[in-house]
Amino acid sequence: MKRILVTGGAGFIGSHLCKKLLEQNNSVICLDNLFTGSYENIEPLIADKNFKFVEHDVTEEFWTDVDEIYNLACPASPKHYQYDPVKTIRTSVIGVSNMLELAKQNDAKILQASTSEVYGDPLVHPQDESYWGNVNPIGVRSCYDEGKRCAETIMSDYHRQFGVDIGIVRIFNTYGPNMAKNDGRVVSNFIIQALKGENITIYGDGSQTRSFCYVDDLTDALISLMKTDYNRPVNVGNPDERTILELAQRIIKLTNSKSNIIFKELPSDDPIRRKPDIALAQQLLNWKPSTNIDDGLRKTIEYFALFV
Ligand code: NAD
Ligand code: UDP
Repeated sequence: MKRILVTGGAGFIGSHLCKKLLEQNNSVICLDNLFTGSYENIEPLIADKNFKFVEHDVTEEFWTDVDEIYNLACPASPKHYQYDPVKTIRTSVIGVSNMLELAKQNDAKILQASTSEVYGDPLVHPQDESYWGNVNPIGVRSCYDEGKRCAETIMSDYHRQFGVDIGIVRIFNTYGPNMAKNDGRVVSNFIIQALKGENITIYGDGSQTRSFCYVDDLTDALISLMKTDYNRPVNVGNPDERTILELAQRIIKLTNSKSNIIFKELPSDDPIRRKPDIALAQQLLNWKPSTNIDDGLRKTIEYFALFV
């Protein structure tokens, strides 16, 4: 039985990951400061004797015995990471440094949850791992984008300098149950608005694209990547690219909603197109996403319908 630390384990992706790791007979420590995560997300896991929750902030040192670390702690939605941008960048940079020291002390493997945001507003489409990105270093998204880019740097330097065993996963837009109700990201916003019959708020004209991956597909890839000895970044996401307008129309249809679509101002630095090239993940992990967008949205709608 492995002892696995999941930082950000009470969040959306983290809670699914903790559940899957427990099902695979691991002992899981979930570390979270509950900024955007919630106790409700991990409540079903609490009774498991192999699960332990520790309320802690990754910007503070943390010492324990571990074999593997998944470092997910960081607010992920623009609304939340822009709420306290200084804290966001500290969480990425100091948080990953603390977790790397822990990995070094334990001779443990560490996997960093990086992001498609390291590509910024990409000039290359689709984005593969060799692209260095087009990121504004001083904009409103920079606390997140540059924090995650710096985390990749620190990870790579701990690997080169101290031989720490690392993995870096660049996660593209992922959705599913356990996203926070007030998360502010597009899938949860549109579903909640559609279920309530409120206006669906498209920022800009809705022609910008994203590629949406269902959370189960993503957690499978994270666990597979942890098992490899590949130490450079790997894109994980679903290359099924959609416009935001199409996503809104699809959600209206799936919820039988009477909501109208309204258009609001596009936030600054909002990427125009985003689609992962997942050839590396396919080859390295023998993985590809298997949940189509309608099935994934249906499961997510079912989840949010419990609260609306
Ligand atoms: P989330 O906000 O639901 O989860 C983040 C978790 O980290 C929350 O439980 C939060 O309370 C915790 N956290 C935040 N700051 C912390 C701190 N200082 N100390 C301890 N815990 C802290 O977001 P998510 O979508 O589950 O994202 C998880 C990870 O995946 C993040 O690192 C995010 O950057 C990355 N990611 C997610 C997506 C996506 O589409 N969901 C895309 C790219 C990258
Ligand atoms: N978006 C939108 N309406 C919303 C929330 C988001 O039109 O209520 C847009 C947002 O401007 C972006 C896309 O949807 O173009 C994805 O936004 P999200 O915050 O989910 O993630 P991002 O990929 O931008 O980090």
